[in-house]
Amino acid sequence: MAEYDYDLFVIGAGSGGVRAARLAAMSGARVAVAEEHRVGGTCVIRGCVPKKFMVYASEFASHFKTARAYGWTVDDPRFDWPAFLAEKDKEIARLSGIYVTNLQNAGAELVHAKARLVDAHTVELVGKDRKVTAAKILIATGGRPWVPRDMPGVEHVITSDEAFHIEQLPKRMVIAGGGYIAVEFACIFNGLGVDVTLVHRGPNILRGFDDHVRAHLAEEMDKKGIKVLLGCQHDQVTKGPDGLTSHLSSGHEVTSDLVLFATGREPYVEGLGLEAAGVETRDGAIVVDAFSRTSVDGVWAVGDVTNRINLTPVAIREGAAFAQTEFYDNPTSFDHEMVASAVFSQPAIGSVGLTEAEARRQHGKVDIYFSRFRAMKHTFAGGDERALIKLVVDGESQRLLGCHVVAQDAPEIIQMAAVALKMGVTKAQWDSTCAVHPTLAEELVTMREKYMPQDLGAAA
Ligand code: FAD
Repeated sequence: MAEYDYDLFVIGAGSGGVRAARLAAMSGARVAVAEEHRVGGTCVIRGCVPKKFMVYASEFASHFKTARAYGWTVDDPRFDWPAFLAEKDKEIARLSGIYVTNLQNAGAELVHAKARLVDAHTVELVGKDRKVTAAKILIATGGRPWVPRDMPGVEHVITSDEAFHIEQLPKRMVIAGGGYIAVEFACIFNGLGVDVTLVHRGPNILRGFDDHVRAHLAEEMDKKGIKVLLGCQHDQVTKGPDGLTSHLSSGHEVTSDLVLFATGREPYVEGLGLEAAGVETRDGAIVVDAFSRTSVDGVWAVGDVTNRINLTPVAIREGAAFAQTEFYDNPTSFDHEMVASAVFSQPAIGSVGLTEAEARRQHGKVDIYFSRFRAMKHTFAGGDERALIKLVVDGESQRLLGCHVVAQDAPEIIQMAAVALKMGVTKAQWDSTCAVHPTLAEELVTMREKYMPQDLGAAA
C-alpha cells in the first residue's frame, strides 16, 4: 500500500465517515478525512442533536401545563430563544470538538477542505491546490435539503439547515412537507408558541409509517392547534408588508413570518467528481452493494449519500462494517432489516418492522393488536392526549412483524421492542413477558384480543 499517500481517504466527517475513519486508523492504517464544513456532519451540527435540544425546549410548554394539575404553581413561564440558541451552539461546539479529538486519538489526519474525486485512487483538495492518493477511498458526504428551485419566491424560504439559527422566533410560520423533519419542526415551533401551518401535498403526513399511526398523530397535532393542510402544495411565495404569503395549489393563501421547506433531502454528490471517476449513481444516490462497494474498485460509499436508510445509526453501522471488512479481515455487511426509527413529534412515534399494509402485502394473513388510550399522567391532569400501540403479527408463524407506538416516550420504548423483533419473537413469547406497572409500555404485553378491521376503522 506504500505506493499511495494513505491507506484510506474518507470524504466527509459525519456519522458514517468518522466511524469508518476511526476504526480503520485504530487498525494501524494511514487514514485521512476531509471535511468541508464542521466535523460531526448533519447529525451533530444541523440534524438529530440540535433538533432534539429543540424538542426538549419545546416540550416544557406542556410540562408547565401538566405541572399545575399536579399541584405546582408555575407563574408566567417565558421562553428566551436567543438564550437557548447560545446554549445549544455551545453544546454543539463541544460535541464537534469531541469528534475531532476522537479522530486525532485514533491517529487519523483531519483535512479541512472540500474533496473531489479525480480517479479511483486520487482526491483533489479543492482550494488547497493539492492532490493526494489513497489505496481506498470512502465517500461519506451525506445528504442535503431539497427544495423546488424553480418555484417563484423560493429565495424567501429557509430549510432545516437554517432553522437552527433563526434570529428570533416568528409569530406565524408555514412549514412545507409531510416527512418526519417537517412534522418534528411543526411540533417544536408549536410548543414554543408559534402559530404553525403545515402544508403537505400528500393525503396524510408521514408516508411510509403505519396508516393508523399517521392518522393518530395528525389528530394529536390538530388538538395542539397545528393547522395541517393536506393535498396541496406551494405554487409560490411572495413577500409583502405583512410578511410572506404562501400561495397554495388549493387556492388558499397563508401569510406568515417564516416559511420553512422540509420537502425532502437529496444525496450530496455535487462537485464530487463521480463522473470523472466513473462511480455509478441512480436517482442521484451512489449505487453500492451489500459491502458498500461502488461500481469502481477502490471506492466505497456509506450513509445518506447511498440513500438506503437515512438515519445516523445506520450510517455508523455501514461505516463500521466497511472498516471491519477492509481493515480487520472480517467481512461484514450491515443488515438493513428491522431498523427501528423514531419521530420526535409531540407525542412521539417509535416504529419497528412492517406497517399493517406492508405486512398484508408480504404475508397475506396478519393479526393486529391495537390500543388507543389516555395515559394516566394525562387522565390525572385532565389532558386529552392519547397514546397508540399497535402490533402486527404474522397470522401463520405468529412472529411479530411490526410494533408501532405513539406516546411521549415511544422512541425509548421502541428500542427494546426492536431487540425482540430482530430476534424473531412470537406473540406467545412476547406475551410471556411480565408487565412493568404502572407504565404506558405495559400495554404492549397485555393486549390479548385481536382487533378486526371494523374495530380498527372505528379506532382510527
Ligand atoms: P453526514 O452526517 O451528513 O456527513 C457528511 C459530511 O460530509 C458533512 O459534514 C459534510 O459537510 C461533508 N461533506 C460533504 N461533501 C463533502 C466534500 N466533497 N468534501 C468534504 N466534506 C464533505 N437521523 C437519526 O437517526 N435520528 C434523528 O433524529 C435524525 N434527525 C434528523 C434531523 C434533521 C433536521 C436532519 C436533516 C437529519 C436527521 N437525521 C436523523 C438524519 C441523520 O442526520 C443522517 O442520516 C446522518 O447524519 C447521515 O450521516 P452521513 O455520515 O451519511 O452524512
